[in-house]
Amino acid sequence: MAVRNLNDLFLHGLKDIYYAERQILRALPKMAKKAESDQLRSAFEEHRGQTEEQIHRLQQVFEAIGKPARGVKCQAIEGIIEENEEIMGEVEDEDTLDAAMIASAQSVEHYEISRYGTLIAWAGELGMDRKVVDLLSQTLEEEKQTDQRLTRLAEERANRKAKAA
Ligand code: FE
Ligand code: FE
Ligand code: FE
Repeated sequence: MAVRNLNDLFLHGLKDIYYAERQILRALPKMAKKAESDQLRSAFEEHRGQTEEQIHRLQQVFEAIGKPARGVKCQAIEGIIEENEEIMGEVEDEDTLDAAMIASAQSVEHYEISRYGTLIAWAGELGMDRKVVDLLSQTLEEEKQTDQRLTRLAEERANRKAKAA
């Protein structure tokens, strides 16, 4: 798509994260399945549910700006997921795999946090509907909370277990 101004950048970013969220939705069940700890499995499963809602919210944002909900290939998320799958394939110990998957999942959350943060700032600058900012902010908050929950799981258990493996 041609990108000339901030409005075009916003639309491109929205399509990018729409694509990314759908890739994440596909990746999370695989990670949940491989999780050794019950808490980590629940974290992945619950975030999968949230991701479904986030995709729905993005569809509402597209609707609010009068554009069709369509993604544009996000090379960053493809690369992050590919790299994560690679390390998941290389780790031979279950506890170590949990620590690796937490780090991987956090790389995804950080990408999302950066994207949503930018979209919210641009929506504000563009004077978009309050509803757009609210929808994006709700998701940003979920991504931040997920990131923090993963940090806790790593620090309270997974890193120590991986160290002892
Ligand atoms: Fe998300
Ligand atoms: Fe991207
Ligand atoms: Fe997320």
